[in-house]
Amino acid sequence: MNRAEARIDTAHLASNIAHLKSASKSALMAVVKADAYGHGLLGVGLSAEKAGADWLGVALLEEAITLRTHGVRIPILAWLVSPGADFKSAVDHDIDIAISSIAAFNEIAALAGKPRIHIELDTGMTRGGFLDEWQEFLLQDFSTVNVVGVFSHFARADEPGENQNDEQLIRFNQMVADLAKIGINPQIKHLSNSAATLKNPSAHFDLVRTGISLYGLSPDVSTLGESKQLSLKPIMQLRAKLHLVKSVPAGAAVGYGATAHTTTQTKLGVVAMGYADGIPRIAKDAGVFVDGKKAPIIGRVSMDQFVVDLGADSTAVSGDWVIIFGDGSRGEYTADDWGAASLSINYEIVTRIGPRVSRIYAPHVY
Ligand SMILES: *Cc1c(COP(=O)(O)O)cnc(C)c1O
Repeated sequence: MNRAEARIDTAHLASNIAHLKSASKSALMAVVKADAYGHGLLGVGLSAEKAGADWLGVALLEEAITLRTHGVRIPILAWLVSPGADFKSAVDHDIDIAISSIAAFNEIAALAGKPRIHIELDTGMTRGGFLDEWQEFLLQDFSTVNVVGVFSHFARADEPGENQNDEQLIRFNQMVADLAKIGINPQIKHLSNSAATLKNPSAHFDLVRTGISLYGLSPDVSTLGESKQLSLKPIMQLRAKLHLVKSVPAGAAVGYGATAHTTTQTKLGVVAMGYADGIPRIAKDAGVFVDGKKAPIIGRVSMDQFVVDLGADSTAVSGDWVIIFGDGSRGEYTADDWGAASLSINYEIVTRIGPRVSRIYAPHVY
């Protein structure tokens, strides 16, 4: 019997994919790096392919190989593959590799079989992609590789009014033109993450790379609005069991460091998840949903458990399920709420859920 589970609704995933496909005229890459943002690499990858995703995108080569060896047939791009990686297995598994340096290019270009590459450009984020080596890179011999794509990544797409978006787009077009001058015209140009897919049609090009929006979450609640305003359905509902419910008097010190005390006679619930499972220890002003209402965290989050204040008249009992977050439709906390309560973002909340939590591909329950 599970003590904690993340329920992943693949019907919501399909709905998000359909919505995102309608938001651009481009092909859609489902970004499933980091265990599909905590939702399960294979469960999401295979479902996304079935729901009409045209590509899958991951950071690591190992992630790509896992997808391929479990039956994914659509193209897969891996973009964090460093010099010294097993490029041969990428070719053997028909995986597209992003190239960001001459060192990596030389290794992959030496392989037989016309390796499929996407040239990554640093257009202003100053993270991955060619910058200082660009002119020298243009002098390389490209005859042994298949340059399928060219791409870059936005730093501030979730702030559509920022100039940096226009600057990056201009720089992208300039660098693509540099390639054209040496006769390299990749079929697939791509630049948009979720935020740009939703807000910046001028950056859609041939393919959009959607991550967070696929999972039904907003790239930035404060600038772009919540899931619902973006017509997205959060696909994860995180639940845990109440290990114990107990009545305590006013003035009881709760948890390590006695950082909180009950102010009235109340019932407390011990929730069977902790920071080892990804519940942020820093979280304040979050909690769980049980009995049709919110029950806030009281005291510090421990490794395997945390305590919530259920209220004196709660009817919850030991063994009941509580919702840690969901789509918010019944008044429960959302991944956005947990992000704000942790001085972080929804991305980190879902991605950090630990391996002890089962991922179950089934509808949400209330
Ligand atoms: C993670 C990532 C994405 C997806 O970003 P979202 O904001 O989650 O849509 C797209 N492209 C690259 C290169 C990434 O690393």
